[in-house]
Amino acid sequence: MTSSDREVSGASPDGLPPLRDIISAFGLEAKKSLGQNFILDLNLTRRIARAAGKLEGRTAVEVGPGPGGLTRALLLEGATRVVAVERDERVRGALDMISQRYPGKLDVHFGDALQTDWPKVLGPTPGPTVIVANLPYGVATLLLTGWLDTEPWPPWFERMVLMFQKEVAERIVAVPHTKAYGRLSVLAQWRTAPRIVLNVPREAFTPAPKVESAVVEFVPHKEPTPPCTPRALARVTAAAFGQRRKMLRSSLKQLVAEPEGLLDAAGIAGNLRAEDLSVKDFARLALVFERSPVGRG
Ligand code: SAM
Repeated sequence: MTSSDREVSGASPDGLPPLRDIISAFGLEAKKSLGQNFILDLNLTRRIARAAGKLEGRTAVEVGPGPGGLTRALLLEGATRVVAVERDERVRGALDMISQRYPGKLDVHFGDALQTDWPKVLGPTPGPTVIVANLPYGVATLLLTGWLDTEPWPPWFERMVLMFQKEVAERIVAVPHTKAYGRLSVLAQWRTAPRIVLNVPREAFTPAPKVESAVVEFVPHKEPTPPCTPRALARVTAAAFGQRRKMLRSSLKQLVAEPEGLLDAAGIAGNLRAEDLSVKDFARLALVFERSPVGRG
């Protein structure tokens, strides 16, 4: 019997009850306000876990374990430790069962992932760490930009493997001259190499969300170039894409009174629009900006 046969017949390869039974035993009806769309198929959560690469010898950080589908997959695939942050205290009993099955390997912190001090929850010697999560969509981009803003860089994580709404995943990996290309593409691609590794249909979730989803892998660049600050890049991209149909010499007036000087110093023509610039162009512009009197202020 293969492991997937066993799952179909009801038992799971980790010997724990199937997720559907756990959800009904603990009364875990999905809460919309917490972005709860659970994945009950352990074959799928194991595929997501495997997208994080080798898990032996690694700590996996998970946001929102819920009833524990992805958590179980990470442990089944060999993670040395899983550190999970969850807002919903109702799932405590379900996660306790996993802790008992894998003694000493699962640390759960109840709280808001947006307020979490990651190095603090990981402790002094976390070893190589990856972030793997089926994110709550309401806060997914905020969590992502928080991780992308990490200082110092290279960050405390080796890789991130994150589920987003498909439309957000497409914005993250978008290239210049496309409608999807925007702030998120630039912020993500300056510091990491993002790539869609898996498309996930609506029906894979319980309850099914309104939109399709996709898993994105982010591999951090060791030295993002040019070496601007994330703050300057955030300000420049906000101004440029805030009025994306305008030429840069006009849209960047949000940032500085006379954008021409900035654009000249960065070697960028003022009649271009935000979507014409590459990620490196934006980082060069941000570097010139942060050295200017307004940017320094
Ligand atoms: N990992 C589970 C799975 O794949 O089936 C559940 C994923 S569900 C899309 C998102 C989870 O994030 C829910 O369990 C929800 O309670 C939790 N959550 C929502 N907002 C959160 C926050 N700000 N901090 C931590 N967890 C949060």
